[in-house]
Amino acid sequence: MGTDTPPSSDSTLRPPTDRLPLVRLEGSHGEMGLQLGRHRAAQVNAMIEMYRRLFAEASVELGIDNWQEAILHAHKYLPFAEESTPQYVEEMRGIAEGAGAPFDDILVLNCMEAITSDALHLGCTSLAVGPEVTAGGSVLIGHNEDWIPEDIHNVFVVHARPEEEPAYLAITYGGLLPNIGFNACGIAQCCDSVYPSDARVGVPRILVARGVLAARTLSDAIRAASNRNRDAGYNHLIAHESGEMYNVEVSARRFEMLPSDDGTVAHANHYLHPSMQAIEKNSGDLINSRVRLNRARHLIAARRGSLDQAAIQAILADHMNYPQSICNHIVEDDTPLDRQQTIASLIIDLSARTMLVSWGTPCSNEFFAYTLEP
Ligand SMILES: [Zn+2]
Repeated sequence: MGTDTPPSSDSTLRPPTDRLPLVRLEGSHGEMGLQLGRHRAAQVNAMIEMYRRLFAEASVELGIDNWQEAILHAHKYLPFAEESTPQYVEEMRGIAEGAGAPFDDILVLNCMEAITSDALHLGCTSLAVGPEVTAGGSVLIGHNEDWIPEDIHNVFVVHARPEEEPAYLAITYGGLLPNIGFNACGIAQCCDSVYPSDARVGVPRILVARGVLAARTLSDAIRAASNRNRDAGYNHLIAHESGEMYNVEVSARRFEMLPSDDGTVAHANHYLHPSMQAIEKNSGDLINSRVRLNRARHLIAARRGSLDQAAIQAILADHMNYPQSICNHIVEDDTPLDRQQTIASLIIDLSARTMLVSWGTPCSNEFFAYTLEP
């Protein structure tokens, strides 16, 4: 199976309309949060309700009895966030005020992966290709955001002009701080969940990743991703408009920079560096991730020299190993914590400062262009 349409029995969720909504933010961190919260109040509150239900349905697996307990856990992370990234705590306070939701609830959303000890088994696939292998000499980045299917209704695109940071274009959903996108300094980031065994109470990883979009240089971006007070980590696929690109694999206490040496880089949800593999939890459960990564690498290699937006789109829509393919579909008998699908797919042309986004699985939904305005 290549990029053909999925079987008719497929219950993967479709978006309500074709094109993702665009939200424009401008000003201080608090003001931007307020604007996001006001504009997307329904989606922010829908995400809170959905995660409340998840805690009710899967309290044993999540190790948390109820929402109040989730709030207590999330508050342990707050002092670290306030000390290290107070500007992003301001953004969360703004979102809460704008959406008419308690700040505590917004904090829980942004600490979700930490307070559930990564009990949610969710994946993503990311890749980037540089001038030496693309058809037009541009830098292209592809990413499938694989997450809880119902969150498909909460996705949107953010065009932001922070007062003291570079402008950026990103996707996010519900009340989560944006972190997947690129900025006016030519730095792009995609995040992939990873499963380190050294997680601790610290700066929530979503706030760490939000900081990468504020970077003006590649080294600043990598420094932000490896915030020394972090709680755990993601793989941060970070690309620069020059064509320099890295997988920055992060856990709570370790990080490794894996540079591209052939103009391409890809990642899924398992660590690649031996030092990071040594602290990986449940490596045996990450077979799907290994299969997706190898498939992405082979598809990239097959189009080396002629990689363009259409080629990246075809890779993101690939169905080899369906339904746990790069284009990720719901597995019918998965538990609530394992159920996932691609809720958004994006292709960034870093040279042109544009982002093409499909709402939902890229096999069956159109890509629309968004541009970072100067
Ligand atoms: Zn698909």
